[in-house]
Amino acid sequence: MKEQFYYLNREPFKDGNRYIHTYECELKPAPLFLIKLGFFKNSNQALKEAKKYFSNASLCDKCCVKTDEFISHSFLYQYNNNSQGTL
Ligand SMILES: [Zn+2]
Repeated sequence: MKEQFYYLNREPFKDGNRYIHTYECELKPAPLFLIKLGFFKNSNQALKEAKKYFSNASLCDKCCVKTDEFISHSFLYQYNNNSQGTL
């Protein structure tokens, strides 16, 4: 699978989440608000990296395809519980 460059939006969206976008996404925010996550093989890996910055990081519906069952609600629930413990 081709690697893509992923960005995280530093500014929260109106729903409170901070969204991850690929380089090619038309919804990618202005450079001022971008955090460069780097190259990843899939959006799951980008999400894991983004969680290091913001616990409410989320995947853009337009450019990040959620096909892997790794990103299930139960996984995110567990992940959020774990990261809260380390703060
Ligand atoms: Zn996007």
